[in-house]
Amino acid sequence: MSVKPKSHVQNYSDGSLIFQEGDPGDCAYLIESGQVAIEKSVQGQPVVMATFGKGEIFGEMAILDGLNRSASARSLGDCSLLVIKRQQLFDQLQNTNPITHLLIKILLKRIRNTTEKLGSSHPSSLRIPNDPLEQIVESSDEPALDRIRLGSELQHALDTSEFRLFYQPIVAAADRSVVGFESLIRWESPDRGLVPPNDFIGLMEESSLIIPVGSWIQRRAFEDLQRIKSHFRKNFFMSLNISVRQLENANFVEELERNRKDFGLEPHEIKLEVTERILMDGQSGLELLSDAKKKGFLISIDDFGTGYSNFQFLTKFGFDSLKIDRSLLRAAMVDSKMASVLKGISTIAHDLEMDLITEGIETENEFALTQRLRMDMGQGYLFSKPLALQDLLK
Ligand code: C2E
Ligand code: CA
Ligand code: CA
Repeated sequence: MSVKPKSHVQNYSDGSLIFQEGDPGDCAYLIESGQVAIEKSVQGQPVVMATFGKGEIFGEMAILDGLNRSASARSLGDCSLLVIKRQQLFDQLQNTNPITHLLIKILLKRIRNTTEKLGSSHPSSLRIPNDPLEQIVESSDEPALDRIRLGSELQHALDTSEFRLFYQPIVAAADRSVVGFESLIRWESPDRGLVPPNDFIGLMEESSLIIPVGSWIQRRAFEDLQRIKSHFRKNFFMSLNISVRQLENANFVEELERNRKDFGLEPHEIKLEVTERILMDGQSGLELLSDAKKKGFLISIDDFGTGYSNFQFLTKFGFDSLKIDRSLLRAAMVDSKMASVLKGISTIAHDLEMDLITEGIETENEFALTQRLRMDMGQGYLFSKPLALQDLLK
């Protein structure tokens, strides 16, 4: 065996042992050239379980779960290996979604159990005592399990109709008359009470649950808009929050069309609120939005001022409105330079023929500022909190 200790690349001659069953696993290897056999001793005889070639990684299991090597590795012919330090892989693992992380661990445990059953002279279940990396893995289990539990509860909530839609009025800045509503989801959980969307929307977006829930939201909101219109004998628009994930569904526009027809609504009565995140998620979402716009649906940018606030993007897509985030409004209240920025945004938006909506207006002073900045519409607790349909109709 000829090992160059200081280099990340190690060279092994034919037949030499790279690591042995039972050794502590402190690194994995990427094969740069040659071949490696993974062998396990079964009743005293080495049995080859797998061979790996150029471009493949081996020895990663011990790194991921902190246990000793469950098999040996031997070079087949001369080989050259790039050493991957434990911390390097571990840092990557820490960045993965906790559920993926947990699934990897479960899989590893299964593989280990299977290989152990083949019979080993070195019990690989010997843990490295007080290994700090292993502790990190263990402590990350609980949040992952919580998310799995919450995911099942949310599926159940959809099946048993525990979701509710609340509607927050949007008023014209000129005379405070109500011109539309934003639909906002709530979860009325028998165990958790009324759960706000920030506690579960993220998880629904990560799983594909947002697709069926999004369909339910459309139909509920459209039916309720129909009722609101006939109750007040007046026309209003309804804003729906649309996640990036929903725009990955190729049938999105088709479904929107079908649903609005079912409830006798015109496309211009429906506004889709999207955040700048659609920019980061490739072209397909923008194409679907563009289809929806061609069909006459209104498109609004939500939370403007919290993300990239990419002005070029504003010119490339004909948005109908721009919704200024409440953090920008708060900042403009205490900082005259921020008020100037907001004034500039207002001018740009109007030049591009977009309506401006300010959200999160809580005080008369804030409302007065938005009027000075020539905002077209306002939304916030000053006018009304989000309301259940029966309260709204009163
Ligand atoms: P958002 O789209 O920015 O919605 C506005 C949020 O601000 C709502 O919170 C609303 O209740 C709150 N709000 C309204 N007026 C005021 C005010 O004057 N002051 C303050 N401090 N807050 C105000 P909510 O309902 O908790 O929703 C939070 C977020 O969850 C929404 O932010 C939206 O991103 C998401 N969300 C809500 N419903 C849905 C939905 O049906 N689908 C999707 N994809 N996301 C939703
Ligand atoms: Ca919104
Ligand atoms: Ca918003």
